[in-house]
Amino acid sequence: MDHHLECIGCRARYPSIETAYACKSCGDLLEVSYDYDDLRESVNASLWKSRPLSVWRYEELLPLDKGSVKVSLGEGGTTLHRAARVGKLLGLNDLYVKNEGENPTGSFKDRGMTLGVSKAVEIGAKKVACASTGNTSASLAAYAAKAGLESIVVIPHGKIALGKLAQAIAHGARVLQIEGNFDDALKAVLRLAQSNTSLYLLNSVNPYRIEGQKTLAYEIWDQLERKVPDTVIVPVGNAGNISAIWKGFQDLSQLGLISHLPRMIGVQAQGASPITEAFRRGQCRIRPVQNPETIATAIRIGSPASWKKALRAVKGSGGLMETVTDEEILDAQKFLARLEGIFVEPASGSSIAGLKKLVEAGAIGKDENVVCVTTGHGLKDPEIVQRMFEKPITVKADQRSLEIALGLNR
Ligand SMILES: *Cc1c(COP(=O)(O)O)cnc(C)c1O
Ligand SMILES: [Zn+2]
Repeated sequence: MDHHLECIGCRARYPSIETAYACKSCGDLLEVSYDYDDLRESVNASLWKSRPLSVWRYEELLPLDKGSVKVSLGEGGTTLHRAARVGKLLGLNDLYVKNEGENPTGSFKDRGMTLGVSKAVEIGAKKVACASTGNTSASLAAYAAKAGLESIVVIPHGKIALGKLAQAIAHGARVLQIEGNFDDALKAVLRLAQSNTSLYLLNSVNPYRIEGQKTLAYEIWDQLERKVPDTVIVPVGNAGNISAIWKGFQDLSQLGLISHLPRMIGVQAQGASPITEAFRRGQCRIRPVQNPETIATAIRIGSPASWKKALRAVKGSGGLMETVTDEEILDAQKFLARLEGIFVEPASGSSIAGLKKLVEAGAIGKDENVVCVTTGHGLKDPEIVQRMFEKPITVKADQRSLEIALGLNR
């Protein structure tokens, strides 16, 4: 599809085949951009309803050439749950949870990887690589397997949730654990990809990944019967996803399909919150956090690559950034699981925890239409539950012992 890459800083333009991950003249991030006059002609939104709800329902808005192979595992089409019981707990009448844990490898990363790995195949790459806090590596490994590409993942040693590491290994990725955190891993693999062009990098500095992830916004709009929510709340780590969702809503607006935009709210963990700090201080640059710390490993990032895009999303939408503590995250993870039957990993609990905090502070009104994005499945990180929640008790295998344990004895 006709598009080019554009620098978000100096607005330099590059042809669509360019595999650079940063602007050659100023070093800033690139984004995919389109001629919206052309798109308005070619997009027929009523046609979308005849296709299954999925990333590829919106293929006219995805930058892949017509004849190219789509490397797909059935991504997107996740449930938008009406969360009446959590709504009641928090005093909200119109709350929804978009559960991205339902994706093929259990996180929203699959939306980006289906497009990113398809792009890799289109340009003839044989090896794909990423740095990861876990879910990106699980997703990359699975899509690379499907496409028959070699995958290389660089992860922080000892800090990856067990389920995610198991996925990367199972799908046959070459897993390199580094001494250092995610920020160090990304820096290293970015340099590696810049000097070894046989490696196609699929972190969110690759603008094609963001394009896949923007379909989250299209689906929310479709699932609300083509209405725009008042507020969308997203956990923020490296900040690609909130930027992607905002881009998706902006596309709909550019195409004249919606007449207003939602407020974007990003939630970071207190020990890893450089974007929230910059937002609060009214600064236009972040100060990276040297040693980010939180139990929510998927957002344990001190130097988010897409901070500038995220600040633009939040400010441009009249939204805000919030932080939550590990305790608030675990509490939200638990009450979401127990009131709605939705089991998410800790990072995803942060959007729910942020919602609770903002309702209590009066920043979200009781009749607002709010969509919380839960980003990853709870089974990714079973150790957190074993460690932090109630422990099961052990009893003898007879009726009497069970009755005593359950308080059923009169
Ligand atoms: C990747 C990830 C995030 C953070 O998303 P960014 O795009 O890095 O901000 C949050 N939650 C989960 C479960 C993730 O896998
Ligand atoms: Zn530039």
